[in-house]
Amino acid sequence: MTDWLSIESKWRKRWQDEKYFEVDPSEKKKFFVTVAYPYPNSPQHIGHGRTYTLADVHARFMRMCGYNVLFPMGFHYTGTPILGMARRIQENDKELIEAFRTIYKVPEQNIQEFSEPIKIARYFHQEIKSGMIEMGYSIDWRREFTTVDPAYNKFIEWQFRKLKDKNLVIQGSHPVGWCPKDQNPVSQHDTLGDVEPAFTEYVLIKFRYDKYIIPTATLRPETIFGVTNLWTNPDVTYKIIDVDGENWIVSAECARKLEFMDKKVILISEIKGSALVGKKVKIPERNEYVVILPARFVKSENGTGMVMSVPAHAPFDYQALEDIKKNSGSFEQDVLNSVRAINPISIIQTTGYGEIPAKEIIEKFKIEDQNSPHLEEATKELYGKEFYEGILKNNTNQFAGKKIADVKEEVKKWILQQKNADILFELNDGPIRCRCGAECVVKILNDQWFLDYSNKNWKKDAHSCINEMKILPEEIRNEFNHVVDWLRERACARQHGLGTKLPWDKNWIIESLSDSVIYMAYYILAKYVNKKQIIAENLEDEFFDYVFLEKGDVKKVAANCKITENLLESIKNEFSYFYPVNARHSGRDLVPNHLTFFVFNHIAIFPKKYWPEEIVVNGSVLMDGKKMSKSMGNIIPLRDAIRTYGADPIRLAILISAELLQDADFNLEAVKGIKNKLENMLEDCSKYKLNKGSNLQQEDKWLLSRSQQLVLETTSAMEKMRLREALHYVLYEFDSDIQWYLKRTNAKNRTDVSSTLHNVLSTRVAMLSPFAPHIAEEMWEKLGNVSLVSKSLWPLVHNEDIDSASLQSENLLKSTMDDIRNILKVTKIIPKKIIIYTSDSWKNKAYQKILSNVIKGEMSIGILIKSLISDKETELVKKDPDFVKKTINDILSEPIESRQAKAETNIIDEKKILSELDSLVQKDFGVNVQVFSESDPEKYDPKSKARTARPFKPAILIE
Ligand SMILES: [Zn+2]
Repeated sequence: MTDWLSIESKWRKRWQDEKYFEVDPSEKKKFFVTVAYPYPNSPQHIGHGRTYTLADVHARFMRMCGYNVLFPMGFHYTGTPILGMARRIQENDKELIEAFRTIYKVPEQNIQEFSEPIKIARYFHQEIKSGMIEMGYSIDWRREFTTVDPAYNKFIEWQFRKLKDKNLVIQGSHPVGWCPKDQNPVSQHDTLGDVEPAFTEYVLIKFRYDKYIIPTATLRPETIFGVTNLWTNPDVTYKIIDVDGENWIVSAECARKLEFMDKKVILISEIKGSALVGKKVKIPERNEYVVILPARFVKSENGTGMVMSVPAHAPFDYQALEDIKKNSGSFEQDVLNSVRAINPISIIQTTGYGEIPAKEIIEKFKIEDQNSPHLEEATKELYGKEFYEGILKNNTNQFAGKKIADVKEEVKKWILQQKNADILFELNDGPIRCRCGAECVVKILNDQWFLDYSNKNWKKDAHSCINEMKILPEEIRNEFNHVVDWLRERACARQHGLGTKLPWDKNWIIESLSDSVIYMAYYILAKYVNKKQIIAENLEDEFFDYVFLEKGDVKKVAANCKITENLLESIKNEFSYFYPVNARHSGRDLVPNHLTFFVFNHIAIFPKKYWPEEIVVNGSVLMDGKKMSKSMGNIIPLRDAIRTYGADPIRLAILISAELLQDADFNLEAVKGIKNKLENMLEDCSKYKLNKGSNLQQEDKWLLSRSQQLVLETTSAMEKMRLREALHYVLYEFDSDIQWYLKRTNAKNRTDVSSTLHNVLSTRVAMLSPFAPHIAEEMWEKLGNVSLVSKSLWPLVHNEDIDSASLQSENLLKSTMDDIRNILKVTKIIPKKIIIYTSDSWKNKAYQKILSNVIKGEMSIGILIKSLISDKETELVKKDPDFVKKTINDILSEPIESRQAKAETNIIDEKKILSELDSLVQKDFGVNVQVFSESDPEKYDPKSKARTARPFKPAILIE
């Protein structure tokens, strides 16, 4: 029995005693890795472990690559998650309190205090920190801080004054996601399920009916030239409201939305949709009237609850008209007459489409009615095509001949100027709920403070930073560019919560996604703050200017901030040593906000040399394939899991199930399997000792070569943060190679295997150590080392140790063993005799020629045969022309690297190598093996098998 807990705590103590993760500037090259700091509003569960473990593996790997690695950690107290928790406790939320008691085992006395937000933060801060230490994260804890520390407040104040000086914090009126209950803007951290409340701007086109205005929401204002009718839902009761002096007819949901659009809304009366059917409305700018028709696909919660119909270019509208004609029995005669009188108005010319594109695409997708699931897809395709390639036709007045992509804004401005339109913002994936439970809306917020992410120059720099930096996985780069494009002004202050007050308007608190964007720089200061070498109240802006921006005079700054010049200099030097951030790790959910803001704000505050170099993004963690949630009852608190299974098996189980962006699937079976594997490995490490003097045999050379190959492959996977792949090599590929080696040496009754195995295990343990740091230290010690494996260097590849001939020879043995096993399985023979035939020497020469041609891309069988026949050495191919085709297939079924290796190595002596099969076959099948060459006149070959032998594909006869 391996005592995981004591092994792990033993090595943690050693790391702590040696202060190995506490780093200061040195002569070495640095690597600064950071990960999004946690919100201490609940304890960590298994799911939280992924991002931190990835970052820790990264840190440990880079350390072994010789870098001076800084991996610090802070705690984010700012914002509503903690506040929301406190309120739920105040309201005596039974479910939450029960979860604290039973799942997380929080002491009763602490739960009582949780109505105070700061008490929640302090409690879970310690809880999370202990979990991180127990997970073995190689963090420099001297740099720990919280976002409510006075010095941090000073730092954030400085950041905000800088942004304001650059006009990037502005006061104004802009739309924001909003909780009507809290009267506060909401961002991803404030919503249930952590949904980013993204929204879209719609143009409301004002159609006039009698003294009323019927507005419809659209993303395509240019299509008013193609409107043939409006749609209303006959079952919906609409509101007649006074909106800033106009009488509008809209759904109740829309009336509510309009209240948040900075409009004065007064209810006048109501009207049923059915009463609107058949009425005529005037189209703005066209002086024409169109009819209102009934359609049940119109949803009261979308837009205004009324829809304008553009059947030539909108598949939904076209199909709805067709559906009415088809179901004529269920409509009034007047409606039918109106529908039959409608002719779609074509206003956009797009290559590949004729007069009525909507009709064409409906036919293409074989859509039968408006309930077809393909209608959405068809709409998307047509809108996309028309947006990028469409040109407005002559019936669009001053806009004729313009491209849709260019004209959209122009039409919007024009129609707004004519007072024939308005603007409505709507949440994209509603309904979205605030943590307090209320449904969020979009609100135009007046005279609020915004970070101006709509600033064009800022966006331009953000794009260039993103395009120059390393992003892992690469496929997510476009998502970042997309976020930069759609980001707009963002409210950066709140009226409630913990955090830093807006320096020039102390009624506001800077919100959590705005005070967490450049704090990586603060880790440099935190060390000095914690040592009380710098005091918050003495920190003036000039201090930060000097340290971070190299501005100001050292004497003056030191005097004003009451520190010595020496100290000031060394803080500045430490910053310029560790900055920029070399790798920022975070979950994928932070791409549309935190990670992009992190880029934006670094650009705004710091010179280019301090812009971040790399972002690494990971997916989330599932439990047995399902999302983790309290209601599913599948949450495992991290610290519980560590106590039961050990930290290393958990780290590995999280990492091995998925590459970066995929969701990792955690399950306890995997943890147990990994634990067993590690325990076996530990046992092996105690078994084999380093001793000299044994002569390397074929299989030793092979195993040592394989080990080098695996170092090469593992290193390359690590560099791309393909940790699942890397772990696969370390855990499984090594294992299967060692198994084969043991099989070979056992068959030969060898006793001198210790040295080779010791060598290979040392390499393997070193590469395991970033992943499973505790048990790797234990293994390393068992292998006879005195120093720490986490201090050792990552194994280097020695190309001279890769012996290509022994790799090929051993592969030949393995594949021949596999072939024998397969034949026995298929034929169910109990073997009495096994005979192997190796190919004639002309075939080897022909093989090499064919191989070099295949590598050059020449695969024409005719040409190859001709050239082989023309050569004396290989002319025998004329007796066996099939040989060429089969050999090409043999070669193509191999990976490119091994083709190359074969081309570069001399032909191996198959007969000699295969004679080694005898001991293996004896062990496995209890019979002897005889090996003949195809050309051997004395061979036993009753079934004429020998002639079918090919290089690396010996013929086999079993009797
Ligand atoms: Zn709320």
